[in-house]
Amino acid sequence: MGLMGACVAKEYGGLGLDYLSLAVAVEELSRGCASTGMIVSIHNFLYANLVNEKGTPEQKEIFLKDFTKGCIGCFALSEPGAGTDVAGIKLHAKLDGDCWTLNGKKSWVTSAIEGAATVTFATFDPELKHKGLVCFLVPMDSEGLFRGKKEPIMSVSVCLRAATACTVTMEDVRIPQAYMVGNQGDGFKIAMGQLDQARIGIAAHAVGIAQSALDTAIDYAKKREAFGRPLTRLASVKDRLTDMCILVETARMATYRAAVDVSTKNSAMAKYIAGRNAAAVADHCVQILGGRGLSTHYPAERHYRDARGTQIYGGVTDIQKRLVGHFLLKEHDAL
Ligand SMILES: Cc1cc2nc3c(=O)[nH]c(=O)nc-3n(C[C@H](O)[C@H](O)[C@H](O)COP(=O)(O)OP(=O)(O)OC[C@H]3O[C@@H](n4cnc5c(N)ncnc54)[C@H](O)[C@@H]3O)c2cc1C
Repeated sequence: MGLMGACVAKEYGGLGLDYLSLAVAVEELSRGCASTGMIVSIHNFLYANLVNEKGTPEQKEIFLKDFTKGCIGCFALSEPGAGTDVAGIKLHAKLDGDCWTLNGKKSWVTSAIEGAATVTFATFDPELKHKGLVCFLVPMDSEGLFRGKKEPIMSVSVCLRAATACTVTMEDVRIPQAYMVGNQGDGFKIAMGQLDQARIGIAAHAVGIAQSALDTAIDYAKKREAFGRPLTRLASVKDRLTDMCILVETARMATYRAAVDVSTKNSAMAKYIAGRNAAAVADHCVQILGGRGLSTHYPAERHYRDARGTQIYGGVTDIQKRLVGHFLLKEHDAL
């Protein structure tokens, strides 16, 4: 369907769609399969859109054209010692002639095992903190680049099987100056801008998972009888289904709003709402299925595990709340 280049310009093989269309696609994919939704979300919002919007024509030829047709792109920002604290990353970049030499380790890189290239961030001077960051495009088959084993995590290991994450180690990886995105020192700004988009993608992913949990619960409650009538006739179950519907719809509206009016505040708010709501909806779903809610023969426990991750990757819920508060007070000259 061309969704791996949803927002990419048509001249590079993309569909040229807007963020709202991509968010709807990620939501629907995640409703059917959370791992497919996650792969598509991260590939587009964190890799393809970045190259499409910030890459040079040469970078787009190498790092974009094939990536709308099956090659997968990654986004390697997190490190063993720095996740939320982006300015604290340690992957070191040293300019040597017309090449940069990269040394260090990235963690939790989604699709790195299957990916053909990654966006990454390094520091040329850790003392400069966020002002010392640089953004690069790195082919995954670069000499000195090593991928770790698939991380065994709660959802990825049992259910989100298609979505993988692993460490990426770089030992004297040589990257041409031409593969640097923006200017030396622009890395932090580029990373933050892209995370504004990523939150829309993960929020849409969470809405899809939540919708799927609601679908599961309604389907089960219609068929299962207790006290001589379907569960849907019990007031407590009706209340839970109603709560689930409201939580899904609120998250969906916040996500669509963030996709059409992109700002740090809107995308952080969407991710905060959608992640928390997905977890609450999945919890109701488990409850409605009773004992079967815990059984691996039914999808409720899968939704429960899938929903939890959406409050972690793409930025933890805690920092989303702080971002909303910061920009709210900034709008009111009250910082
Ligand atoms: C399945 C999966 C896939 C991932 N994919 C990618 C990927 O493709 N690319 C990538 O770069 N990363 C990826 N990540 C990493 C993810 O983005 C980080 O795990 C996340 O940003 C949190 O960083 P951390 O784990 O280092 O937690 P920390 O930053 O150590 O935070 C731990 C906890 O401390 C608290 N905390 C920390 N800082 C603050 C703060 N400033 N304000 C309030 N509370 C705070 C929060 O409670 C937080 O949950 C992935 C992670 C997972 C689990």
